[in-house]
Amino acid sequence: MQTLQRLAWFFRRHAKRYVIGVLLILGVDVLMLWPPRLIGEVVDSIRNETLTSSSLTQVILLLIGIGLMLYLMRIGWRHFLYGGSLLLERTLRDRLFGHLTRMTPSFFHRRRTGDLMAIATNDIPAIEVTAGMGVLTLVDSLMMTLLTLGVMIFTIDWKLTLASLLPMPFLAWSTAYYGRLLHERFYLSQEAFGKMNDHVQESVSGVRVLRSFVQEQADVEAFQRVSEDTLKKNINVARIDALFEPTINIIIGFSFLIGLGFGSLLVIYSQISLGDLVAFNLYLGLLIWPMFAFGWLMNILQRGSASLSRLEELFAQQPDVAEAKDAVAHVPPGEIRLDGLTFAYPDMEKAALTDISFRLAKGDTLGIVGRTGSGKSTLCRVLLHQFPLKENAVFMSGMPVEEISFEALRQKIAYVPQEHLLFSRTIKENVAFGKPEATEDEIKHALSQAEMLRDIERFPSGLQTMVGEKGVMLSGGQKQRISIARALLPDAEVLILDDSLSAVDARTEEKILDHLRAERAGKTTIITAHRLSAVQHAQEIIVLDEGRIVERGTHEQLMAQDGWYAEQYRRQQMEEQVEGEESA
Ligand code: ATP
Ligand code: MG
Repeated sequence: MQTLQRLAWFFRRHAKRYVIGVLLILGVDVLMLWPPRLIGEVVDSIRNETLTSSSLTQVILLLIGIGLMLYLMRIGWRHFLYGGSLLLERTLRDRLFGHLTRMTPSFFHRRRTGDLMAIATNDIPAIEVTAGMGVLTLVDSLMMTLLTLGVMIFTIDWKLTLASLLPMPFLAWSTAYYGRLLHERFYLSQEAFGKMNDHVQESVSGVRVLRSFVQEQADVEAFQRVSEDTLKKNINVARIDALFEPTINIIIGFSFLIGLGFGSLLVIYSQISLGDLVAFNLYLGLLIWPMFAFGWLMNILQRGSASLSRLEELFAQQPDVAEAKDAVAHVPPGEIRLDGLTFAYPDMEKAALTDISFRLAKGDTLGIVGRTGSGKSTLCRVLLHQFPLKENAVFMSGMPVEEISFEALRQKIAYVPQEHLLFSRTIKENVAFGKPEATEDEIKHALSQAEMLRDIERFPSGLQTMVGEKGVMLSGGQKQRISIARALLPDAEVLILDDSLSAVDARTEEKILDHLRAERAGKTTIITAHRLSAVQHAQEIIVLDEGRIVERGTHEQLMAQDGWYAEQYRRQQMEEQVEGEESA
């Protein structure tokens, strides 16, 4: 019942639909009570030898009429109730998708894709069934039982009714018992299903890694364990399901036994007529469905409740970076300033960045270097306000980043993440992602800035080439350059390139950097890199180590300091020379 209450907002929104549906069910239930009575009367008139052909024809016509009415009304409630539940399914799907798009990175670190998919493909349909079948069963079984019982008690015999209902408490007890078991086991089976989904998703997207490490067999075996576990848990659910029906059948059988035995006695003692007994047994027959339905209703509600809990828990998750209520919608171009920023990832004790300060004047370039894991990407993501920040320490044009609306921030900053992602669409759509209204010339220009246009012109379908499974497989460097073009297209005030030149050769890197300098004069650029030549021309370079700035200055100053940067630079120069000689 509570499950339906939790869906009340939906029933209220579609009140008309549900009221009509429920009224039609009630109509069906009332009409159903008529035929047994008619048949009982026919039996009595046969016994009393008062049956005429005209009265029989009348009854037959009446029965046909009732049948037709039932037919139409049943179509009606199916249309309204099941239609409503499908609407609910869509509403929940849309809400789930919308919710997921609002979540921040830390949410997706916690929740795995397969688990989220299981909610969309399993739990939402289970709720759909609750809103359709559940409502039907609740109304129908309740009304049918009450009406039938009323008719049995008042038009036939209350003692007989009471006697044949004696087995009913067992029914209630077994329903409740199985229902609880089912609830627990269903939850476990859904969880197992989610795990299995995760496994498939990871194996499919990581299939190349699997192959290159010759782990296919091991992964197949691991999957067999997971699917075995899912099977076991599903069988556990099926066991209870299987027990349900036979148990209820036995109880119903006892009811009939009493009804027929005790009823015959009453006929013999002329307490009721033979027609009454026939009608009584037909009424008892009408009670079978509601009795089943009660048990079934428990199932449906339990399942719906488990699913609804999972969904509600998901909906309750708030993005951990919230937009300020009076967030500023426009930030004028200006300097970026960090003021002693210390940052730790959510749920992590150790700070990933400690005491970072810098001023980056509008139009300047900042280089961020340092060994792997030193915090370069973290610093980029902090600037994008992807994670909650503790104190006011990040300022854009003098404004704390917390006070800037997400939209304004994203318009201000174009970002090429380290893990670039292309969608399975055309190259054109991938580049125009952040600026769908861009003209073909603009797109081509962005691609040529990223040194990618020539590659694309070699593809048979050019800009219309599909990326990914359905089209060309792109190399790492090509993907990187398309990602760069995507970020260049909106011509944003700030450009962040997080290790975005790592997969292109030194010469291409140089060309791209030259384009950037020429095109982005007066605009701010932040570049993180392992190859120091990528940041060499920056107005300021900071060297991170374990989240702290350990060296800073221009290229010349850093070379003069003769620290990590200078040593790294000399080594890279030497390597390049060796490579150059090798290829010569
Ligand atoms: P690379 O050169 O390999 O890209 P990086 O300098 O960009 O390295 P970061 O990715 O910023 O390094 O990582 C800095 C530290 O923060 C590392 O110790 C890493 O383990 C940690 N870290 C990164 N992402 C998360 C996260 N989502 N949650 C918790 N810790 C994280
Ligand atoms: Mg990084």
